[in-house]
Amino acid sequence: MAITKLKDLATLVSLCKRRGYIFQSSEVYGGLNSCWDYGPLGASFKYNVKMAWWKAMTRREDVVGLDAAILMHPKVWKASGHVDGFSDPLVDCRSCKNRFREDHAIQIKGQIACPKCQSIDITPPRNFNLMFKTYMGPIEDESSVVYLRPETAQGIFVNFENVASSMRKKIPFGVAQIGKSFRNEITPGNFTFRTREFEQMEMQYFVKPGTDMEWFEKWKSLRWNFYQHLGIEESKLRFKEHGPTELAHYARAAFDVQYEFPFGWQELEGIHNRSDFDLSQHAKFSGKKIEYFDEQSKEKFIPYVIETAVGCDRLALALLCDSYREETLESTEGSAVAEGESSAQEQTQRVVLGLLPELAPRKVAILPLSKKEPLIELSHRLFQQTSENWDVEYDESGSIGKRYRRQDEIGTPFCLTVDFQSLEDQKVTFRHRDTMKQDRVSLDQVNSYLSDKLKKFIS
Ligand code: ATP
Repeated sequence: MAITKLKDLATLVSLCKRRGYIFQSSEVYGGLNSCWDYGPLGASFKYNVKMAWWKAMTRREDVVGLDAAILMHPKVWKASGHVDGFSDPLVDCRSCKNRFREDHAIQIKGQIACPKCQSIDITPPRNFNLMFKTYMGPIEDESSVVYLRPETAQGIFVNFENVASSMRKKIPFGVAQIGKSFRNEITPGNFTFRTREFEQMEMQYFVKPGTDMEWFEKWKSLRWNFYQHLGIEESKLRFKEHGPTELAHYARAAFDVQYEFPFGWQELEGIHNRSDFDLSQHAKFSGKKIEYFDEQSKEKFIPYVIETAVGCDRLALALLCDSYREETLESTEGSAVAEGESSAQEQTQRVVLGLLPELAPRKVAILPLSKKEPLIELSHRLFQQTSENWDVEYDESGSIGKRYRRQDEIGTPFCLTVDFQSLEDQKVTFRHRDTMKQDRVSLDQVNSYLSDKLKKFIS
């Protein structure tokens, strides 16, 4: 069997649209640039990605969750530095009119050049604040300006004392949050990689100063393990350290986890040592003391923060890219291929999303081989029975080969086929997505078979 991985993003964009993963936002009106809607399967998949992260974070003794509001007091963004400093240097190419971030320019003979047409005729940079502004209440003036948050982290910092005291948390402890963020990006693009509305999964871990670098290293390795757990190919992941000139003003150390997308190595997650910058700033701007009293050492201090921040949409995109494969089945493999899969020439090629079952939007598809009443009735019963535990799809139309192909393409780990024989021997056929091997299983064993196989899924 020959296997080809994803070569270009366009192939994935097309699959996502065709199969109900991701649609262009407001498509009937010609679309809204850089905004995307998750379809029925995409929404389930993204939910599973979030749950995987949420579990990895909050099923620990030392991390709790939070869900803060998108709109916050405008002073938050003054304190955090976003009002004055959250801007990108915007430049225009005078030759091809391309508008881009100065740091996205390419270098030609020591001069910055347009990444699109290579011209060095570039305007001087102008700073462009990335925060979306709106107004709270009926009067639209300067005093009613509020911002759509450009990151979720500040909701955690301003709730530091609320969380610590209500949850009786002792340092070191962390707060995890998933939520929407908004940035008026100059150059969004590459499908859902960089958008103006996106979801972040951030965790801020509060530690005693002096122990920060130790925790920084610990979180680096925990986050690496997380990506391994999700089944991302190791050779497509790497750490990239921020050099002294790349470090944000508040950061003592920063590493990105990068993934090799079809358009190159790009940041997936940032892991930062933010020192006591944020809590000190909020203490300063709010006039309230934000301090931690360590009962053991009787010391007072402002905690340091280790932050892990990943975009949910960006991780979902990396997982889709990583799990996509095209298989060409050799004719000799035909005999190993199940009935309905090997006969026609065009069916010796298939596309598979090899997603971990935990992430797959559907774990099982119930496929009756005929639309005759007794088969349909039994199939609906099986749908009811299995969907109590799992996300299940029911599909009765089209040839069985085509229905298998659809399930392969959306990443369903198991198909359950109901045939006439099922009515006689009370057995159904399970087909495994990756091996295409089939098992005949008694009706009363269906749920236990599935829970067993999904638990020790071997790709
Ligand atoms: P960049 O330099 O690429 O603009 P950043 O370093 O400012 O990104 P962070 O502020 O560290 O990004 O955000 C944390 C994570 O949030 C990123 O690693 C990324 O996964 C996600 N993210 C940030 N901006 C966007 C965006 N516009 N669209 C989708 N995801 C984003």
